[in-house]
Amino acid sequence: MFIGHFGLAFGARKAAPAVSLGTLFIACQFADLLWPTLLLLGIERVEIDPAASKMTPLDFVSYPYSHSLLMLCLWGAACGGIYAALRRAPLTAAVTLALLVVSHWVLDFITHRPDLPLTPTGSTRVGLGLWNSIPATLAVEVPIFAVGLALYLRATRARRAAGTIGVWSLVAFLLLIYAASTFGPPPPSARAVLWSAQAMWLLVAWAYWLDRNRTAHD
Ligand SMILES: [Zn+2]
Repeated sequence: MFIGHFGLAFGARKAAPAVSLGTLFIACQFADLLWPTLLLLGIERVEIDPAASKMTPLDFVSYPYSHSLLMLCLWGAACGGIYAALRRAPLTAAVTLALLVVSHWVLDFITHRPDLPLTPTGSTRVGLGLWNSIPATLAVEVPIFAVGLALYLRATRARRAAGTIGVWSLVAFLLLIYAASTFGPPPPSARAVLWSAQAMWLLVAWAYWLDRNRTAHD
């Protein structure tokens, strides 16, 4: 799952109007933002296997700390708790962030083949394998993204032109990488996967910037 995660983050702005879109991006993609650093440290492992599924040529050999259900529940509680402590945020904001972190696992569970761990140490791997079909994946993921984006556009309005340009250029960019990763050639190496995943922090910065140019509807 790729744009579906961002769809939930966009939509969550309605539930937590005081939270920046950048923070919501960190929460929905916490697993995938932590993952490349764990790959870099040699703690988790990915390999290229063009036969892995129709949607991705990635074989997620091991990712117990970034992608097990138990760890994402713990990361979610930590993110919500830290945000609440730092920002003295209302409980709904903290709970929204925690749920977004866990939602990553749920969406990945729907799309991945059975490679998602339940706990960091157990051997059980689960996944419904939606990625075995490109049309089925698009049929699930594109509506999640569209509905989330629509909620965000209704919950906020641009304060200046950058608020409009920012959001639509980000949407275009997300759709472009989604199309490229779905229909383009597989990445040349696991190292290339690691660094393109690391580049996702730029999307977080982009979201913080554009969100500062938008304001919540009262
Ligand atoms: Zn993931």
